[in-house]
Amino acid sequence: MSCDFLALAQPGVQKLSPYVPGKPVDELARELDLDPAGIVKLASNENPLGPSPKALETIREQLAELTRYPDGNGFELKSRLAERCGVTPAQVTLGNGSNDILDLVARAYLAPGLNAVFSEHAFAVYPIATQAVGATGKVVPAVDYGHDLPAMLAAIDANTRVVFIANPNNPTGTWFGPRALEDFLAQVPENVLVVLDEAYIEYAEGDELPDGLDYLARYPNLLVSRTFSKAYGLAALRVGYGLSSAQVADVLNRVRQPFNVNSLALAAACAALDDADYLAESRRVNDAGMRQLEEGLRALDLKWIPSKGNFIAVDFGRDAAPINQAMLREGVILRPVGGYGMPTFLRISIGLAHENARCLEALAKVLGRG
Ligand SMILES: *Cc1c(COP(=O)(O)O)cnc(C)c1O
Repeated sequence: MSCDFLALAQPGVQKLSPYVPGKPVDELARELDLDPAGIVKLASNENPLGPSPKALETIREQLAELTRYPDGNGFELKSRLAERCGVTPAQVTLGNGSNDILDLVARAYLAPGLNAVFSEHAFAVYPIATQAVGATGKVVPAVDYGHDLPAMLAAIDANTRVVFIANPNNPTGTWFGPRALEDFLAQVPENVLVVLDEAYIEYAEGDELPDGLDYLARYPNLLVSRTFSKAYGLAALRVGYGLSSAQVADVLNRVRQPFNVNSLALAAACAALDDADYLAESRRVNDAGMRQLEEGLRALDLKWIPSKGNFIAVDFGRDAAPINQAMLREGVILRPVGGYGMPTFLRISIGLAHENARCLEALAKVLGRG
């Protein structure tokens, strides 16, 4: 007798598609018999600099301790983050990537019959986290690919417990300013948790983007999530954090895995926080790379969505899947975003100057504009 275990999964899970990551370099090398060293991966918003040397040194020191469980309370990292962010350690939640923080929120606050509000073209983890616990995602149409905060506000109903907003958003790179966030927070019902996902906030300059931390004291229903995966260059280690009221942090602490952040990640994150030079270099490389790509795209007569992240979504005005395939054959891995409702786009992560140049050359060739 056979049993349909898909049909047995809870309805929200049945409707999910697995998250599609950027294609790994080794996988493409295997598939097309290419030299991995010649492949350029600009597909996962990874930091092209490689990890901070300070983080690497700390990791080496920690290796001898791998036999022990990590500090389940993350005392050292929480203390440093609290000091840095002007909050108490009790307001800090550590996660196995900030993805984990989003999951903890869903597990603690969502359930069948309840819903989470998020935008069209928003980060793919919001629907996954929401549906995985049997709750419903209310998707609000985007405006010019960006979050329509007034419409998201209007979508909140009596069963809404969480609103996910990303600033800037991935994969669109779109952002909202301080005024828009202030107006939004002032009107969200106080029993609805606002998750402000600031995965790319370290790349922001000036006051074009609000700093979520400025609003924590005034809004106990605000949780700001951040990560070491992007500007801090530690994506493989999986470490992120949430900043919230102490009460929300206490709730999240009840549902998290006891040792959700590993010891190498804890130590490396502390070291990365102290490496101001690395962060400054990350920003510099990103700004220069963004300008380089924008110039190159303009020369190719291509359109893109202006971005405040470490990536840029390019609109080819037709199905981008064949273009993506052709780019793969050129040894350049980009990110298709059809799953985000953007089938004519590819997302390009900002790389080092020579990687961006390779990408632009390959695009010119593939589009016959070289
Ligand atoms: C990359 C990303 C994250 C989280 O990444 P982690 O590696 O899990 O910290 C969260 N939100 C957005 C919008 C992202 O792009």
